[in-house]
Amino acid sequence: MFLTRQNLLVFLLLMSFFFVSACSSDQAQQQAGICISFDDRSIKEWYSLQELLARYNAKVTFFISGAAALTAEEVRMLKELEQQGHEIGSHGALHVRARDYIREHSYQEYLRDEVFSNTRALEKKGFLPTAFAYPYGRGYWFTDLLLEKHFKAIRHAVSTDSIRGLSATDDIFFKLGESKELVAASIDANVHLNKEAIDNALQKAATENKVLMIFGHKPAQAPSPGSYTFNIALLEYILQQANKHNLEFYRVSDLVQD
Ligand SMILES: [Zn+2]
Repeated sequence: MFLTRQNLLVFLLLMSFFFVSACSSDQAQQQAGICISFDDRSIKEWYSLQELLARYNAKVTFFISGAAALTAEEVRMLKELEQQGHEIGSHGALHVRARDYIREHSYQEYLRDEVFSNTRALEKKGFLPTAFAYPYGRGYWFTDLLLEKHFKAIRHAVSTDSIRGLSATDDIFFKLGESKELVAASIDANVHLNKEAIDNALQKAATENKVLMIFGHKPAQAPSPGSYTFNIALLEYILQQANKHNLEFYRVSDLVQD
């Protein structure tokens, strides 16, 4: 085919069509959603959430700390949760502050004692964690770089005293392609969240086509104020409203492309 002016125009037109459709398919993948995770080792209590989660078709991530101490019964419960589509991630063997441990020991010891040791314990029990959540929500300035070699996704947490309102905390609204930071806000009783704050945050995720990142620790019917427990009724309200806003449920690893 000779490269005539007309052929060139047709070629350019086809190319532009290709780019436009490639861009719009990227956009189509970015569906507004919510990503819920739970930290530490309240296995029995998390297991009791399975019917609630299934009722709203919610998929979540459980970040396990001190995996070597999991009992056979807890492993069985986690396996069941995994089979239902939930994710099992790692939350450190010792559950230490990355910065303090590295300062007092070394980053090699941090990786060995905190990170790899927990991965190995999970692997021994039949889990392959691809996401890591920092205990106390924060890494050290270079630990992300080290951990990115071993995990697909690394979840941080926003400090609870810096949350003036969920919807005002931009860090916890994840936009695929725009951010690599996965930062979640706590729904525990010590944060004093109300329904209005939840509504505004879910509305923001839906309107801005982003993913709201939240996490909690131990579920309770009546959490004591100031504790690392969250109200099951509040979780149900979040699930209900997420469905109402047509939000997709994402596990932590779902948010990071390979
Ligand atoms: Zn923790």
